[in-house]
Amino acid sequence: EHVVNRIAAGEVIERPAAAVKELVENSIDAGARRIQVSLAAGGVARIDVSDDGVGMSPDELALAVQRHCTSKLTDETLVQVATLGFRGEALPSIGAAARLCISSRPKGGEAWRLRVEGGLVRQAEPCSGPYGTQVLVEDLFFATPARRKFLKSARVEAGHAELAVRRLALSAPEIAFRLEIDDRLVLDLPRQDRATRVSALLADEAGGAAPNGLLPVEGLRDGIGLSGFACGPAVHRATVGGQFLVVNNRPVADPVLRTAVRVAYRQVLEQGRHAVVALFLDVPPDRLDVNVHPAKTELRFADPAAVRALVIGTLGRGLAGGAG
Ligand code: ADP
Ligand code: MG
Repeated sequence: EHVVNRIAAGEVIERPAAAVKELVENSIDAGARRIQVSLAAGGVARIDVSDDGVGMSPDELALAVQRHCTSKLTDETLVQVATLGFRGEALPSIGAAARLCISSRPKGGEAWRLRVEGGLVRQAEPCSGPYGTQVLVEDLFFATPARRKFLKSARVEAGHAELAVRRLALSAPEIAFRLEIDDRLVLDLPRQDRATRVSALLADEAGGAAPNGLLPVEGLRDGIGLSGFACGPAVHRATVGGQFLVVNNRPVADPVLRTAVRVAYRQVLEQGRHAVVALFLDVPPDRLDVNVHPAKTELRFADPAAVRALVIGTLGRGLAGGAG
């Protein structure tokens, strides 16, 4: 049983950033208004995710660390729209690979703490703490040394984790986010509207230049809505290609979207400009296939050509408007 759990754990949690993503998604699903993340040594030594969400009773806490236990609805449509995680794999996987300590206090209830170490679930105990949930992950992959060998430097791992948090922060501007990496405050975002959140995040990607060069993008085609912002010609020195792509509230790294963004930029701007965008697609659930593999959630458009045309057309118009 333990061996099976550990193999599965390596598949779900490939690196610290994957654990960070799963934990922050859980906090978002828990209705948090404020999420704090702190990492030490790229997340391998410590990942701490705290929220002020609904919390868990001791019974719910015990269920949460069991494999394939999810409190979330399994109705496909609701799952796609409303919740990010729904496989009931994240916490057991992290518990199998690391030292996990979850403290949680539901509204009107007491705080309880549950530890899991290398897959062994300990006795829950009462503790003290604020409403909400704190998940502390220490010594990630101590129980799976093979996985540990594949990790890059702490700096690189921290970078991946930071990107995961930024993506989720972009998709949930109504939640305040704070990220500390080795006691350095990296991100401190208040609750804000989408446009303000986008400019705060894109400004970093574009070397601080985004707020002036942010062009609105807005379009509709075949029932698929596209909105968001793109950095136009005003931005000269985009550091990395900051492409934030969100489909139905879920941050994605989708090749169809990525290519369409590149094509749109090429058509309008001179070579060598990096695309810096935050695009939000709203796709009717029946036009989307969400393919759930243990390692990642994949998203496929039923009609990629329509999505491609929508992105190239709308983004192209937005960029051309900014150039003229
Ligand atoms: P999933 O998110 O797919 O349900 P997880 O292993 O990530 O599976 O979490 C298991 C369960 O633990 C969730 O369904 C939820 O009920 C509970 N849970 C996890 N994190 C939190 C949190 N931060 N606040 C409240 N409940 C949580
Ligand atoms: Mg989850």
